[in-house]
Amino acid sequence: MVTPSALIAGTSIAGPALAYWLERYGWRTTIVERAPALRTGGQNVDLKGAGLQVIERMGLEDQVRAAYTGELGLEFVQARGQALARFPVGDPMVERARRAAR
Ligand SMILES: Cc1cc2nc3c(=O)[nH]c(=O)nc-3n(C[C@H](O)[C@H](O)[C@H](O)COP(=O)(O)OP(=O)(O)OC[C@H]3O[C@@H](n4cnc5c(N)ncnc54)[C@H](O)[C@@H]3O)c2cc1C
Repeated sequence: MVTPSALIAGTSIAGPALAYWLERYGWRTTIVERAPALRTGGQNVDLKGAGLQVIERMGLEDQVRAAYTGELGLEFVQARGQALARFPVGDPMVERARRAAR
């Protein structure tokens, strides 16, 4: 039987996640990236909904929890400090991470 293979463009979040799942089901994958170098600066990401489910199914909860930044959310304020809009963090994984950190 021939092993199915896939060429995946992009090594951000979707590319490696797709490669992970394809390999898990017996595919051979190659990922290519057009960016000239790895961006090591890091970036906060929201984890919720389907993303949260995928992290759990990939068994990455502990690593994600270890990288938890403690962010409470985002708030746009006027010059005098009055809030215009709030985007609080209310994600179940964040809530669990908070409880685990106590
Ligand atoms: C300003 C901004 C703020 C955001 N803030 C958040 C946030 O706070 N939280 C959050 O969860 N999400 C945020 N997002 C959304 C998040 O960035 C995207 O949902 C996520 O990056 C999508 O991942 P992706 O792997 O599909 O694509 P991308 O992250 O866009 O990655 C695509 C990759 O493919 C590479 N590529 C493209 N074409 C080729 C090619 N032809 N050959 C080889 N490589 C190629 C690119 O160089 C890149 O590395 C934000 C997005 C923007 C623009």
